[in-house]
Order: sequence, then structure tokens, then C-alpha cells
Amino acid sequence: MPPSAWPRGRARRAAVIAAVCAVMGAGVSIAYLWGERVGIRAQRDGTAHRIEAYIGGLRSEMRRYEYLPAVVALNHDVQRLLREPATPGLPMAANRFLAEVNAAAKSTAIYVMDAHGLTLAASNWNEAASFVGINFSYRPYFRDAMQGKPGRFYGIGTVSREPGYYFSQPIVREGAMLGVAAVKVNLDKIDEPWLANDDRILVVDANGIVFLSSQPDWRFKSLRELPSETRWQLASTRQYSTVDSLDPIGFREQRRFAADISVVRMPDGDEFLAQSRRIPDTDWRLIVLSDMEPIRTLARNSAVIGAFALGFLLLLILYVLQRRRAAAQNRAAKEALQRAHDELERKVAMRTQALSGSNLKLQKEIAERKRAEQVLKAAMDELVQASKMAALGQMSAGITHELNQPLAALRTLSANTIVFFRRGQTDAVETNLNVICQMVERMGKITAQLKKFARKTPVQSVPTPVGTVIADALFLLDSRIRADGAELVVSVPEPSPLALCEGNRLEQVLVNLLSNALDAMKEANADAAEDATEDATDDATARVLEIRVHADPQWVTIEVADRGCGIDDDVMPRLFEPFFTTKEQGVGLGLGLAISAGIVREFGGTLRAENRRTLDPSSGAAGRNENAGARFIIDLPAAQETHADAN
Ligand code: ADP
Repeated sequence: MPPSAWPRGRARRAAVIAAVCAVMGAGVSIAYLWGERVGIRAQRDGTAHRIEAYIGGLRSEMRRYEYLPAVVALNHDVQRLLREPATPGLPMAANRFLAEVNAAAKSTAIYVMDAHGLTLAASNWNEAASFVGINFSYRPYFRDAMQGKPGRFYGIGTVSREPGYYFSQPIVREGAMLGVAAVKVNLDKIDEPWLANDDRILVVDANGIVFLSSQPDWRFKSLRELPSETRWQLASTRQYSTVDSLDPIGFREQRRFAADISVVRMPDGDEFLAQSRRIPDTDWRLIVLSDMEPIRTLARNSAVIGAFALGFLLLLILYVLQRRRAAAQNRAAKEALQRAHDELERKVAMRTQALSGSNLKLQKEIAERKRAEQVLKAAMDELVQASKMAALGQMSAGITHELNQPLAALRTLSANTIVFFRRGQTDAVETNLNVICQMVERMGKITAQLKKFARKTPVQSVPTPVGTVIADALFLLDSRIRADGAELVVSVPEPSPLALCEGNRLEQVLVNLLSNALDAMKEANADAAEDATEDATDDATARVLEIRVHADPQWVTIEVADRGCGIDDDVMPRLFEPFFTTKEQGVGLGLGLAISAGIVREFGGTLRAENRRTLDPSSGAAGRNENAGARFIIDLPAAQETHADAN
């Protein structure tokens, strides 16, 4: 992972977590608000019936008295009193009538005012707080009635100091406005049943002043701070004249859901759902405050359900995303695998192509090498043959001498035989012919050996008695050995050990080694002859040619040792190099040992050379001939069986 990748990954994760939290928060809030709305709607529907009932109760109570002012206005005594207020007896008649009606209707007070607002008669004429003689022209219900319309007014009595509801009606006679009939009703009883109610109920006037309430301490308090203009107006109508302050209750509207529904908070911190309804035919409003707890519970439950639902949804989304991501990863991995597979196949194909190319090349090279080996082998064979011919060439002088001698003898013998034959000396003829026969036989043997040696043989290792091969080689070199006066020491176990080789080629190797030995002894002898002229007491070095064979189960060893000049230290490492010779030009080609070593190697054997140590260090000869000749050792693999005819 690159160093900048993980912070980016972390930032992304943090952003996702923040987004999830935001979505959860928003979802829970929405669920809460939705639950609250549902709760409010349910509460509103439930409360609506009760509000209808409260308003219905209030209105029916008021309607019970609505007709009273009209009844009073129609009374003859009342009308007369208003027309003739100074007529004695009329006020009392009117007072009594009003008292009777008041008692029958169970209202608080009924009274009649003239066109100036002065009370001329009243049902409470005989009580201490009698209205008679009191001017109520400042009251709105008087002014409304004087304008020809029925008056409605709630206020506290300036005389009785009791709150009450006032109904008024103009008293008109033949188009003339005579005065006003008014009824005061005490509505105190109306909110008594409300006290036992769970709802908090209040009725407010147009100025927002509570005058009926299930909470007695809220009565004659305002919903909000009253403006000074309103206060001045209230003072002029003396509506709540006995109340000192008309202080606000301290409602605070928290939220408004509709024109008539809001959440309000009390000074003590309690919150209520406030529903208000206008009371028909008045400028009053009835307000019901209901408990918020059921709404809150519903909202909370809704929020919890919302949270669970949202959590489930998020988990579902997460699961789907995870699955999609896993599927995408799977797809990507498969594609990568496919790509790697294709790449591998391509590489394998390329490699195979390259390999088949190099294989083809290798096969070509192998074929070429085989061809080269065959050529080399053929060349080697040719070389072996050529070297054999060269050896034959070298031996030719001796062989010619070997053949010339019997030929000369044959000539003489055959001439003598003819003479003996003519003389009839048959015994002599027979003796001569026998000698001739033997000579011819020997000459035939020599030529047979030469032919055998010269023939080209295939390289085929077979169990070969080394003694026979040594004898053949010595036969070829016999005349030379004799001519050089060399003493031959041959030691071959009986029966001859069998080596795995090809006889003709081994014979060539031996002829080569023996020739070299004779050359070396000749050279040593020539040196000794030179020395002899300086020191007449020294003898020529003895020429001894030793051939020894010994064998173990694995190897058959042939040693060819001479008492020649030995091998110089600087010559020894180059001995088997082709064309290396110390002999005079024309005498040696320097190929004999190289070819001999090659032949022995082909048999699976080795050819090595060493200098012989002085045989007897105390002898006088040791001082003169330090090397005491060389020794060539051929190791050939032994054949398992022994040759019965070996000698
Ligand atoms: P060539 O006989 O034609 O010189 P060879 O390969 O047979 O070639 O021999 C290489 C050389 O090894 C000879 O020239 C000679 O110096 C040395 N050599 C071989 N045989 C003997 C030996 N028996 N004693 C001393 N030196 C030898």
C-alpha cells in the first residue's frame, strides 16, 4: 500500500461514518417529528370533541339568559318608568317586577338604565349593593345597546365586585330609544366541573385575559404582557376594576403546528399542547392545554422504530454494497487470474517456441556433432592406418633384409639342387628342397604377418590374449631387435591374461612403443659410443628390452621398458602431443605416441610414461646413465574369461 493511500482510506471511512451518523440522526429526527405530528393529530381529534362539549356547555348556559333583556324591554312598567321617571310608584313597580323575573330566571341581577346610563330600577333595589341610581354608561354593553344591538360583556361588577356576564338590549318605543335593559349572570359555576378534568381549560377574552379556568390561580391573568393602550381601555370600561395587575401567566409558545395548535411551556418547565377554538357569537376563545406525554411517548417510539428501521435499512444497504463489492472483487480477481493465465499461456507458448527452436538447433548441433565425430573417427582411423603404414615403412628396411637373405639363399640352394638333380644325388636334392620349403614357409609367415598388420580393422573390443599380440609385434620387429643386438626380456603369465581390446590395434601400439624403445637405446648407445672415445675403459650400454605383463581382476597391465636415454623433464609433459618429436626430421613424425594413446583410450584404458630409476645405484653404470631408460605402461580393462590357447 502506498503511504498516502491509508490516510485517504481513513478519511473516506470517517466520511462514510459521518454520513451514516448524519443519515441516522436525520432519520431519527424525522421519525420523531412524524411521530409527534401523528400524536398531535390524534390528540387534536380526541380533544376536539371535548372542546365542543365545553363550548356547548358554556353557550347553553349563556343562552338561558339571552332572552331576559328582551322580556324586560317589553314590560309596560319598565317602559313607563323610562318615559316618566318622576312618576311616583313606577320605580317600585319596576323594581318588584325585575326582582320577580330575576328570582324566576335565577340570574344575578336585572336592571334598567335610562338613555344616559343611570339605573332607574334593579332587581337588587333593596340590597346593600343596589344598582339603583348608579350610572353604567361607561360599560360597553350599555353603549352597544344604545346603538341598537344586543350587548355582551364580561367583567367584574363595580358595585358588587363580583364577576359576571352581562346581556343588554335596547328598550325602544315607537322608534324612540328609551333606555337599556341589562341582565348580569354569574358564570362562576360553569368552570366548576372543569376542575376535576385532566385537561387544563381556560377561556380568554379578546385581550387575552383569562376569566374562566380550571386553574383558579390563572383567572384574571393575561396570556401575554398587555400593551398600555389595552390597559387604558380596560381602565375606561372598568372591566376588571377590582383586579390589581392582570399579570401574564408566563406561557411561552414553543412551536406552532397550525393556527389553533401549538406547544406551550409553563414557567415551571412543563409543556402542553394548546388547542384554541373561538366561541361563536363572542370574541372569546376557549383554550385546552393537554398533556404532551402521550405525544412524546409516541414520538419516542416512532423514533426508536425509525432508528431500528433505518439501522436495518443501512445494514441492508451495507450488506448489498458488501455483496456487490465482493462480487466486483471476485470478478476482478477472476479477470486478473484470466489475464495471468493468458499471460502464462502466452509466455509458455513463447517459451515453447523458443525451446522448440533451441531444441531444433540442438538436434542440428547433435547431428552436426555426430557427423563431425564420424568424420573425426574416420580421420582417426585414417591416421591410425597412415601411422601404421609409416611404421611399416620404417620397418621396411629390416623386413626387406629379412626377405632378401632367404631369397639369395633360395637362389643358391635352387641352383645347387639342379646340379644335384642332374648328378642324380637325390638325397642332397631332398635335403635342399626341405631347406627351401622351410625358407619359403618363413617368408610366407613374414608376409602374412605384414599383411595382417597392414590390414584395416574395425574398432571392436573383444577379449584378446595380450601374450599373442606381444608375440606378433615382436615377430615384426624381430630382425630389427636382432640387428640392434638388443636383449629381450619377456614376462607374460601363463595362460595369457585377456584384455578387452582389438588385437591388431594393440599390436600397432606395441610396435610403436618397442620401436621408440629401440630408437632410445640406439640414441643412448650412440651417446655412449661418443663418450667411449674419451674414456676407453667404458663399455657400451647394455640394450635390454623388457616386456612385462601382470593382471588383476580389473586391469591387465603391459609395461615396455628400455635402457635408453630416458625422457627429459621438459619432454615429459609434451610426450603425447601430436607432431611432438625429438628425432631428426624425416625419422620421426611425432604422431606415434599421440595415436597410441588415442587407441588405448578407445579401449577404455590409459597409456602413461615414466623414467626408470637406476636399477643398482652402487654399480658403476649408475653414474653414467642416470635415467636408466624409460617405461611405458598400458592399462587395459580385463576381460572376465581367460583364453585357453594363450601363450
Ligand atoms: P616419433 O617416434 O616419431 O618421434 P613418438 O610420438 O613415437 O614420435 O615419440 C615422441 C617422442 O617421445 C620421441 O621423439 C622421443 O623424444 C620420445 N620418446 C618416445 N619413446 C621414448 C623412449 N622409449 N625413450 C625416450 N624417449 C622416448
